Amino acid sequence: MSFCVAIDGPAGAGKSTVAKAVAAEMNFIYVDTGAMYRAMALFFLRKGIAADDEEAVAAACPEADISIAYENGAQQVILNGENVSGLIRTEEVGGMASATSVYRTVREKLVELQQALAKRTDVVMDGRDIATVVLPGADVKIYLTASTAVRAKRRRNELAEKGVTRPLEEIEQDIIERDYRDMHRENSPLTRVGDAVLIDSSEMTLREVVDAIETLIRKKRGE
Ligand code: C5P
Repeated sequence: MSFCVAIDGPAGAGKSTVAKAVAAEMNFIYVDTGAMYRAMALFFLRKGIAADDEEAVAAACPEADISIAYENGAQQVILNGENVSGLIRTEEVGGMASATSVYRTVREKLVELQQALAKRTDVVMDGRDIATVVLPGADVKIYLTASTAVRAKRRRNELAEKGVTRPLEEIEQDIIERDYRDMHRENSPLTRVGDAVLIDSSEMTLREVVDAIETLIRKKRGE
């Protein structure tokens, strides 16, 4: 049986940074499910499909073949044979991913792929519906969050590193809207399951969060 760690939480809580570190230190595979929704979104954008056109999204779904590969331990997302990992980290693709991930056809396709991955290997998987839908039987479940103000500041710094400047208020407003959509959608809304451990990283360092999760993993394994 593979060992599975599920990390859910809102945008900008630090899930991917934390999940990557835990996976590397514990020798697990890191599965970034958001990247898969982003690759699907890129596919829809390239086809000129509008985010609110559910019919067109559903019709296009079967044409998108998504898979993942690993290069030096880093997840690469492959869309119809093309490595699109470098193209999906934009605000445009993130917004489209949030808008099109509400559709059942999109979710079903990606959940299936995610479940198949976790069956084969020990994984740390992060997203919005990992503990609720993808891996309800996960060995360790984490709900990682932080205040909107802290998340907006982190996002601003990330953008600044890429040479992009955006007013903090605008970034925070985006985060609030994305959270609302992720938490209130009909299909697989972001929510914390009862047995998920709540970690608020607002006042914690990366090291502290990683240590807290690794302690939970070791405890679960009886180490
Ligand atoms: O985490 P990330 O920002 O890369 O995810 C992009 C979007 O994909 C999220 O805003 C969310 O709407 C969607 N998503 C999802 N379920 C997941 C992971 C991401 O609906 N498991």
